[in-house]
Amino acid sequence: MPELPDVEIFRRTAETHALNQAIEAVEIDDQKVAASSPQNLSESLRGYWFTEAKRRGKYLLMPTSGETVLVMHFGMTGWLEYNQGDKPGYAKATFNYTNGYSLHFINPRKLGRLYITDDIEAFCQYMKAGPDALALKEDAFMERAQKKKGMIKSALMDQSFISGIGNIYSDEICFQARFHPKTKINDLSEIQLVRLFHAMNDVLQTAIEHHAIPEKMPAHFIIPRRKEGEYCPRCGGAIKKDKRSGRGFYFCPHCQE
Ligand SMILES: [Zn+2]
Repeated sequence: MPELPDVEIFRRTAETHALNQAIEAVEIDDQKVAASSPQNLSESLRGYWFTEAKRRGKYLLMPTSGETVLVMHFGMTGWLEYNQGDKPGYAKATFNYTNGYSLHFINPRKLGRLYITDDIEAFCQYMKAGPDALALKEDAFMERAQKKKGMIKSALMDQSFISGIGNIYSDEICFQARFHPKTKINDLSEIQLVRLFHAMNDVLQTAIEHHAIPEKMPAHFIIPRRKEGEYCPRCGGAIKKDKRSGRGFYFCPHCQE
């Protein structure tokens, strides 16, 4: 599932290629991706242009020269492609520009959504999207974290607490901060919470620097080692998978307590 670093890469694609050119037509190839009606989506965008590409957690926000903002959520898997010519496979929506190029919203496993809003803050509140994990400052994080209950991993993945982190990056943050994912966040001392905050920032920034490609992550990351039989890059011990909770999580029982 695309998480904050992935969506940041999509945001950069949109920012580099897809701004300040008039949208000639919007093609919706799968009605389910349009959270409002495809007609409304098309009418809100046609003749206008995207002025900015912003991000909040896993949402890509594209304000237009009109009154509205297009919001993209990539669901289980998805990405953006900008090209001239053939429509790529799994393109569920296409924004055609007057210059002959198109921006494609690709979504192979569905569950991706396109929304139209005229108020980003109201939209985020309605979707219960908390502050973006990379935009959150240390003191604001501490204030929120000190009131939070539950396991560290669940807290990191709770989009209303912090937005942008999912299954894969929450494992990496716990690994880098050396906390067992099931440790209760309210059992952490102030110093430990600061450590968690810095691990969160380092992991997300580093992932973006490596274009959010798992195989290209640095050697001290466990993301490329999410397999049973793999070894911990820190201590050389076996990586464990805990299968009890949903999709399961990976950790090193020796390094994470
Ligand atoms: Zn280890």
